[in-house]
Parts: sequence; C-alpha cells; structure tokens
Amino acid sequence: MIKHIGILGGTFDPVHNGHIRCAHYVQQHCALDEVRLMPCHLPAHRATPGVSSEQRAAMVQLAISQYPQLKLERLELNKPSASYTADSLQLLSTQEPGSRFYFIIGMDSLCYFRSWKNWPDILKLAHLLVCQRPGYSQQDGDAPALLQQFGVTDLATMRQRPSGCIMLLANPLADISASEIRRQLQQQQSAAKTLDPAVLNYIQTQQLYQA
Ligand code: ATP
Repeated sequence: MIKHIGILGGTFDPVHNGHIRCAHYVQQHCALDEVRLMPCHLPAHRATPGVSSEQRAAMVQLAISQYPQLKLERLELNKPSASYTADSLQLLSTQEPGSRFYFIIGMDSLCYFRSWKNWPDILKLAHLLVCQRPGYSQQDGDAPALLQQFGVTDLATMRQRPSGCIMLLANPLADISASEIRRQLQQQQSAAKTLDPAVLNYIQTQQLYQA
C-alpha cells in the first residue's frame, strides 16, 4: 500500500504555532499517514541562523511531542552545504520508493517558488500543498502562473497522481512568523502566545535569541 507523507521544510528558527497548526491541518485534511517537519542545516534563501540546526531540531521535537502523526525528518541536518528541496525529495524518493510525497509550503513560498533551485524537479517528485498565510495571496508573484499550469482543487484527483499537482488549502490563518518571534524575544517581549510552552522553556534555558 502506498504511504502518503507530507514534508514541511523550513528553518524553524524557532518552530512556532503557525508551523504546527499548518502541519496538523494538512495531515488531517489530506488524510496523510504522517507529516514530517524537516529543518534545514543551512537555508538556501537566507542568512545562516544564529541558532544551531541541532537546537532548532530539538525545538521541533518538543513542539510535535503531542502529535503522533507529526515527525522530525533529520535528512538535511547533517548536510554540510545549503539544502535544496529538489535534492532532499530525490533522496527521500530513492530511500522510500513505496511512498508518495506532498511538500507543504506557505503562500509566501509559492509566490517565489520559481526561484527555487530545480523547481520543476520538485513537482516531478512530489505534489505541493499550499497553506494560506496572512499577507500573501494567490494573485501575487509566481502563484497565478503555477496554479494555472499545475493547480487542482480536488483531493481525490491529486491522490491518484504520483506528483505534479498544486493544491491550495483553506486552513485557518495564523498570523505568526519566526522573524517576529525573534524580534519579540530580543526585545524581551512575551512570545508565549505563539510558541509551545516546552519550546519557550527550551529557549529560556538555552538563552537563545537574546539581544
Ligand atoms: P521567518 O519569519 O524567519 O521567515 P517563518 O515563520 O516563515 O520564518 P520558516 O521556517 O521559514 O518560518 O517556514 C517554513 C515553512 O512554513 C514555509 O513554507 C512557510 O511559508 C511556512 N509557514 C511559516 N509560518 C506560517 C504560518 N503562520 N502560516 C502558514 N505557513 C507558514
């Protein structure tokens, strides 16, 4: 039987409730067997984070502890160079030939998706599931052209195909971003509403994101 696996890649600097709500919503709504959160070691599209990849992975592990269908994917953590989604999906497909992959992104990422390295390969290896995010619309950037070419509205159609579909989801909006959380923590403001309590405790114990 085919295993349906969602992958939410990111920097998770730090992992926040927006990531977890999005991963949980997708897993339930699309009836995926599991969703894996895949922290990168060195992000391709931004500066190297100040917090180590092992610390970011530890926070992900804490944040998913109450969700049996959410897992930590360690694939990119030990890679010495920048992580590219197409390479990671290629590796996962080779390692797990009986699985079908659904790469999960926020609408912000869809808007510049055609700047991702080898983006057509991503769609040969996986479907794309796009979560709504406040401030970003399907009218912006790359989204209209991609949706015209690859968009589907029906989950059953997508599940029948091995890859190559893009589906927009109607997840509840979560106005949360890691950059805003880093800013709040640096200014010693509370980020308790947007972080799992265990993640907040880890940040405080490890003295992360200080000015
Ligand atoms: P930053 O603010 O530092 O850019 P971020 O909050 O966007 O970070 P990332 O780790 O870069 O977090 O995001 C990983 C993935 O999760 C991306 O595809 C992003 O679009 C998605 N994502 C992040 N936050 C949300 C959110 N609140 N709602 C929906 N998707 C989100």
